[in-house]
Amino acid sequence: MSNEVLDEALLKRAFHHAVTFLDTLPRRPVGPRATRDELLHALRAPLTEEGEDAAGVIDLLAVQGQRGTMGTPSPRFFGFVIGGSLPVAVAADWLTSAWDQNAGLYAASPITSVAEDVAREWLLDLFGLPRESGLGFVTGCQMANFTCLAAARHAVLRDHGWDVEEKGLQGAPRVNLVLGAEAHITIHVALRFLGFGTSTSLVVPTDEQGRMHAGELRKTLAGVQGPTIVCAQAGNVNTGAFDPLREIAGIAREHGGWLHVDSAFGMWAAASRDKRALTDGIDLADSWATDAHKWLNVPYDCGVAIVRDAQAHRASMTSTAAYLQQTSGAERDPVDWNPEFSRRARGLTVYAALRTLGRCGVEDLVDRLCARARQIAELLAPHATILNDVVLNQVLVRFGDSDELTRAVIAGVQQEGTCWLGGTSWHGMGAMRVSISNWATTEEDVERSAAAIVAILRSLRA
Ligand SMILES: *Cc1c(COP(=O)(O)O)cnc(C)c1O
Repeated sequence: MSNEVLDEALLKRAFHHAVTFLDTLPRRPVGPRATRDELLHALRAPLTEEGEDAAGVIDLLAVQGQRGTMGTPSPRFFGFVIGGSLPVAVAADWLTSAWDQNAGLYAASPITSVAEDVAREWLLDLFGLPRESGLGFVTGCQMANFTCLAAARHAVLRDHGWDVEEKGLQGAPRVNLVLGAEAHITIHVALRFLGFGTSTSLVVPTDEQGRMHAGELRKTLAGVQGPTIVCAQAGNVNTGAFDPLREIAGIAREHGGWLHVDSAFGMWAAASRDKRALTDGIDLADSWATDAHKWLNVPYDCGVAIVRDAQAHRASMTSTAAYLQQTSGAERDPVDWNPEFSRRARGLTVYAALRTLGRCGVEDLVDRLCARARQIAELLAPHATILNDVVLNQVLVRFGDSDELTRAVIAGVQQEGTCWLGGTSWHGMGAMRVSISNWATTEEDVERSAAAIVAILRSLRA
């Protein structure tokens, strides 16, 4: 089959390569196997005048390039906090590419606008958040934090008689920014993007699990007046710990402050009856940033920004100009809810994943990964120190109370290839960080991985 826009043979070739990649994934070393020099050698060539055969280019990427891929969708990839991809989400993503929709406007892609509107309702329902909230599909939690904090900036300054969208920050009332000492780096970056700088925030001490001290927050806010934004966290990137959100929300409210919650992966605990208590009080916040490419396991990239005050959300993001106003009003123009103008129809994968999983499927996904995290902690505990309370999907492991040994185990594991995980620094100590974020990780994957880690530890000690 072919016509002016279809090259079926080429798409079938890419399909074949993609299927081979996924088919061999669980049998290949999880980490990349090519060096930078090898990849450059394979890829670098003078840009030709005439171009090259498309099939050859796809083959080159698939065969040479694959050696430089990280096995992030592998069931034994435990690095950073990175989800895999549900089969239905990959399939929806292929459709998204073939459709090539510009998701900025209803007029440019009615289906995307409507599917994202429905996915918005499902997400708010699943998380137990106010139905009237604004929601934008962004590239990841970095941009979700940015979007939410832009809405916060708008609202707290509006309440002090200042239109920041019109007048900017110069001459505006000073905004107090209050963060936990363990705030994720992307909160600091978002504040930088928003013109607040990196050194103006008030930092609230955290406890041994990385949770903000509510009592310390109260003390910090006691000396503060005027527009105030408090950033809390649901799911510490190292320990998985949750700030005491109900208490924090009460304190922020007493001070008339806006409460934002960075819940990149922790938000999903709200979808599980077993884990929901961790998020207690999260619905009292004003804005929430989360990811779909982590726990929901849709392909990169997809984050979600949610703002209770939809008017503030829209005011801070809208770019609807007269020439774009092609609709009558009920239709949702995604440009009003996210910082991008033209963008990918990334909400389609969320729609497909949620519709396929249903409420129980999402709950099972959350519970399963938490159980696997407890399992690996139990298997490693006789050989190591588990530094955190394993409340969610994150496990911090330290070997022989030694940075050096811990680093050597991590390097050995990455080299050996059964699984892949990385290192972190936790309260001055080197640690191996295990993040169970992939829908496909089985008990057997965890057993095999733990056995490989213990074998490397033994060989280093021998
Ligand atoms: C991953 C993460 C982020 C950043 O998310 P991206 O999707 O990488 O932009 C922010 N906060 C926390 C707590 C995270 O775990």
